[in-house]
Amino acid sequence: MAAPEESVVHGSTARPQDLPSVDQLLRGDTPRALLAEHGRTLVVGEARALLDGLRTRAVAGTLPAADVQPEALAHALTERVQARIAPRMRAVLNLTGTVIHTNLGRALLADAALQRLMTLMTSPNNLEYDLGSGGRGDRDSLVEELLCSITGAEAATVVNNNAAAVLLTISALAREREVIVSRGELVEIGGAFRMPDVMASAGARMVEVGTTNRTHPHDYERAINEHTGLLMKVHTSNYAVQGFTAAVDEATLAGIAHARGVPLATDLGSGSLVDLAHYGLPREPLPQEMLAAGCDVVTFSGDKLLGGPQAGLIVGSKAAVGRIRKFPMKRALRMSKLPLAALEATLSLYLRPERLAQDLPTLRLLTRPADAIREMAEALQPAVQAAVSPRFTVEVVPLLGQIGSGSLPVERLPSAGLALAPAGTAKKGLGTALDQLATALRGLPLPVIGRIAEDRLLLDLRCLEDSAPFVAQLPLLRDALQ
Ligand SMILES: *Cc1c(COP(=O)(O)O)cnc(C)c1O
Repeated sequence: MAAPEESVVHGSTARPQDLPSVDQLLRGDTPRALLAEHGRTLVVGEARALLDGLRTRAVAGTLPAADVQPEALAHALTERVQARIAPRMRAVLNLTGTVIHTNLGRALLADAALQRLMTLMTSPNNLEYDLGSGGRGDRDSLVEELLCSITGAEAATVVNNNAAAVLLTISALAREREVIVSRGELVEIGGAFRMPDVMASAGARMVEVGTTNRTHPHDYERAINEHTGLLMKVHTSNYAVQGFTAAVDEATLAGIAHARGVPLATDLGSGSLVDLAHYGLPREPLPQEMLAAGCDVVTFSGDKLLGGPQAGLIVGSKAAVGRIRKFPMKRALRMSKLPLAALEATLSLYLRPERLAQDLPTLRLLTRPADAIREMAEALQPAVQAAVSPRFTVEVVPLLGQIGSGSLPVERLPSAGLALAPAGTAKKGLGTALDQLATALRGLPLPVIGRIAEDRLLLDLRCLEDSAPFVAQLPLLRDALQ
């Protein structure tokens, strides 16, 4: 390895010949320890990449001599190796105020579901094996009975997500046929799920009826003909049509559909399995109500209000679900054993509704009293203020959060949290200061995700059940803001 003195002699920048070879670099104590821990493939690869990068800078004359010191190189190599194996998918603190946040992974799994995954995923299991007969089993049967007993459905099947559930339902029941849907319900959910496009992908011809604000029973009645394969109702889960409006409810629509021998499907989107009004929360329609109203198929998500893993749940009549289950596309959309195990464990929690608000994290967070959240904010305020002083001031504020994931877009959840504002009143540079603060919060080992509104960075504490990991990072936040 080049002697340190040599670099110093030639000034403060290193020359290419000051760099060690890969073999020389790997002879040091730290690199040897890295080799012992991670093996040659990873460490040699990173050593090579490190030296290549440094050589380019040395050729350009921009490499400080200090960077080629053995300790500096060992440190740089360690950082590279650690960064290479660090997971890209990381835990974050959701302080956005949106409980079921699609970009932050939606519902948190219940302990029971986690335990089930731990036991089942490291062992063979009866995914498609009938323990009674010793013959082949059906993976859907693992959750069908639970889903039927909770929703009152005759039959149930499950797929990868609700978008798949809708696509499969339309394909299986109305491929190359017409699907009638109200113009007021042509929903777009984030991530390119748009009802007209889903219909086209499913190979069905969409027939729009009514208008954006008003659709009547006779609109559906007039559109039904011998080509009609399905009547479709879509829950407007991420917007509200208000004012001079009219929509046809499921019971009326079921009467119209069944009189003409056509099935009715409803896409509920979130679909809560318990009445949220019971917990003092805004109401969402229940799959069980849709089935009781006469829907032949109801589809909803596993990781929205249900509080489980990503999944698409399809419940309904034996005839309709039977056709859906037998449709070839079902095989391509089937659930994997991992979410299926978590789904079964999550659904089991609904058999003990009295404990649900404790056992199901989604419901626990949604029902957390605003007073308790405010108390936490008050307790945290001094420590956060100390960490961001003198550049920012921290205030305890009432906030309005939301359920999220398209649930009840107009209803807000009274909450509380901390508002961080740049100190001083100058409007200039305010945006930059807030962006720097948001960046520093996101740069923490456990990234903190808040929201910026009205010239302040807001941290809604509804989803912070345990404040210890947040508090433990405050010294790092202070360093980042220096
Ligand atoms: C969320 C939603 C979907 C898509 O569900 P995923 O589980 O995200 O695939 C479909 N329809 C409606 C009405 C929704 O709200």
